[in-house]
Amino acid sequence: MIITEPFNFIPWFIDMTSFEDFYISCPCCSSWLIGKKAKADSVNQSVLYSDGMIINDLIPANPQQIVLCPACGFLFWMQKDACHNSIPESDKLTAYSWPNWRFFGCNLLDNHGKIALINHYWKAIELLQPLSVQQEIIVRKSLLWAYNDLYRDANTWRFVDVVRGKINFFYWIISRKFNRKGRALFESERRHFEANIHRLIELLERDPNSEPAVIAELYRELGEFEKAMLHLSKIVRRTHYINLLNTHIQLRDKSVFKVAG
Ligand SMILES: [Zn+2]
Repeated sequence: MIITEPFNFIPWFIDMTSFEDFYISCPCCSSWLIGKKAKADSVNQSVLYSDGMIINDLIPANPQQIVLCPACGFLFWMQKDACHNSIPESDKLTAYSWPNWRFFGCNLLDNHGKIALINHYWKAIELLQPLSVQQEIIVRKSLLWAYNDLYRDANTWRFVDVVRGKINFFYWIISRKFNRKGRALFESERRHFEANIHRLIELLERDPNSEPAVIAELYRELGEFEKAMLHLSKIVRRTHYINLLNTHIQLRDKSVFKVAG
C-alpha cells in the first residue's frame, strides 16, 4: 500500500468496528458525550514509546481522564462509574460526538492543534486545584506525552521509503516539513517541557511505588544522563526496554524513542 495521505496520525484506515461507544454525562449541564474505546480483543497493532505512551491501532491506549464539556465548557475528571454502555435513542440525537471533546477538541493533525492541547493541560493543572498527587501525575504525564507528540513520529518515514515505493514522494515532502515544524515548536517550548518533568520527578520520587525506569527515562529526557544512569542501576532485571534505555543514555540522546511495535 502506498501512503498518500498527508500525516502519520490520520486514522483513515482504522476499522471503526474495532471500537465500541460509551456515553458520559456532563456533571454540570447533563449533556451526553459519546466516546470510543477499543474492544479488548480487536487490537491489531500496539506501539510503545519510551515515555510510556502506548498507541493501539493509531489511537492512544491511555484513556482520556479529563474532559472539557463542549456544551458548557465545564472541566471535569472522567469517573469510571459515570460511563454508560448505552443511552436512550432520543438522547443519542443530541449527544456530542467524540471529536467534539476528545483531546479537548484540538486538531492534532496540525502542529498548532498540538500546542493547543498542551495549553489545555497547563490550564487543567491551574483550574482543577486542589489535585491529589495521583491526579497531578496523570495530568503531567499527559502533558509530557503531548509535548513529545510534537515530534514523536518524525522518523517514521525516510527517503528510502520513497525509493522503495512505500510512500508517495509528495507525502514525504509534506510530512518532513510538518515534522520539522513540530520539532522547532518542541524546542521553543523546551523550558516549559522541562519544568513539567522536574515537577513530575518530584511527585514520583515521593511515591514509594514509582518505577526507577520511569524516573530514569524522565532524567534522560532532561539530558541529565548521570542521574538517569543512577536510577537505571537500581534495576536488576534487564528487559528489552531497560537495555534500549541504557543504550540511549550512553548515546546521550534525550529524544523520545519507539520501544516496540
Ligand atoms: Zn456541560
